[in-house]
Amino acid sequence: MIGSGVPGAASGDARVDTVVIGAGVSGLGFANWWRERHPEDALVVLEAEDEPGGYCRTVVRDGFVWDYSGHFFHFKDPAIEAWLRARMPGQEVRTVVRRAVIRYAGRDIDFPFQTHIHQLPLDDFLECLVELYFRPAGDGPPRSFGDMLVRRLGKGITDKFLRPYNEKLYATDLDRLDVDAMGRFFPQADIADIIAAMRPRPDVPAAGAGYNVTFTYPAGGAVQYIHALLRDLPAGMVSCGEPVTAIDLAARCVVTPRRRIHYQRVVSSAPLPALARLCGLAHDAVFSSNKVLVFNLGFDRKGPRDVHWMYFPDRALAFYRIGWYDNILPPRPGAPDRMSLYVEIGAAGDAALDVDALRARVLDDLRREAIVTDHQLVSHHHVVLDPAYVHITQASLAETARLKAELAAHDIHSVGRYGGWTYCSIEDNLIETRALAQQL
Ligand SMILES: Cc1cc2nc3c(=O)[nH]c(=O)nc-3n(C[C@H](O)[C@H](O)[C@H](O)COP(=O)(O)OP(=O)(O)OC[C@H]3O[C@@H](n4cnc5c(N)ncnc54)[C@H](O)[C@@H]3O)c2cc1C
Repeated sequence: MIGSGVPGAASGDARVDTVVIGAGVSGLGFANWWRERHPEDALVVLEAEDEPGGYCRTVVRDGFVWDYSGHFFHFKDPAIEAWLRARMPGQEVRTVVRRAVIRYAGRDIDFPFQTHIHQLPLDDFLECLVELYFRPAGDGPPRSFGDMLVRRLGKGITDKFLRPYNEKLYATDLDRLDVDAMGRFFPQADIADIIAAMRPRPDVPAAGAGYNVTFTYPAGGAVQYIHALLRDLPAGMVSCGEPVTAIDLAARCVVTPRRRIHYQRVVSSAPLPALARLCGLAHDAVFSSNKVLVFNLGFDRKGPRDVHWMYFPDRALAFYRIGWYDNILPPRPGAPDRMSLYVEIGAAGDAALDVDALRARVLDDLRREAIVTDHQLVSHHHVVLDPAYVHITQASLAETARLKAELAAHDIHSVGRYGGWTYCSIEDNLIETRALAQQL
């Protein structure tokens, strides 16, 4: 430990070993892993917002429990899940078997689309099948995400679902994105899987069923994982409402509106381009992303049952996905059973959003799809996640690697979904920060 680190102290100069930027899953994860190994170190977590959690936050309003968009959890590493659960005594965590569908031409097709084309109207099914069989081989490896889709699954599956749905979500042309832009989150299926799925075997999980066939969800909402990450951190270690406004690389000093903090190392979960700006480092103009406007909507009574979320490729509809909190977490005994929805709208990073007009349009579209009939909206909330899904391109991958290496040479480590300019889950954030704490 160096100097007299006084996390949360009043204005002036402070000196700590480690400054963590951001009190989301990544920042809090790192703080826990680091303190397990170096309990004597002075560490402070600086968070711009007035509360911790980042995108893993929960809003409780009028009896509804809502997240910053549906957040459901799929842990690959049992040790990570056990570690979190041990810090959530008394919290009920449900395991749910996913029921997700695609609304296509008035029908509900089981997810993933590519292994359920036999549920489409006959003409659409035949088109998908023929295009799948005669999919283009192309020369050399696929050039883009869009090219990969056509070459692997054919033009029918791509044009009917994968392209319109993902272009609504990403708010960009899929031919800009890297082949591996969705990584393991893209449900893989080859022609044999697709044909095999036409004769389902209940005892055999469908190939290409995706990474989240079952998921878990805490009764108190996604923020319960943030509470778990806060549990072992000393009071005052996390300073909210204290944005980092500059980082002086030469003086090894982080600047906030309250103080200057001298450090040995920084671990930042701020978006990578923003971190580069804070440090005064130039970067190529290759970072773009979408933003997602999330409406959480509470109604006076129950809506559809037996569905957790629904995908909408129809470009005429405002949203690309909606989900039912009330079907994932039934109400507590005695509480009313009411439809509780999250609705996600993708937009370009620089788009202006008229929230009131979009809410009205969403309600119209929900009526058009017969999800809302004579329901009354009794409560609502919205949040804009910006950035939400980053556009992973060849250029962004190269510039991310270059910038991270340049920052690391100054003992500044950029982590997390936006620090790594990537697509990942909260578990990935915990695995990454655990590895960093071991490595440093
Ligand atoms: C629409 C959507 C749905 C998702 N669904 C799931 C899901 O179902 N399951 C799942 O596991 N994951 C899901 N994710 C991913 C998950 O939200 C992220 O992996 C995780 O929340 C990222 O945590 P983080 O700490 O890396 O980043 P963030 O949550 O963005 O936290 C970064 C923190 O840094 C703070 N910060 C930024 N700049 C500064 C500054 N200058 N000074 C101080 N503080 C600063 C921010 O305020 C923020 O609190 C979803 C993401 C999105 C967008």
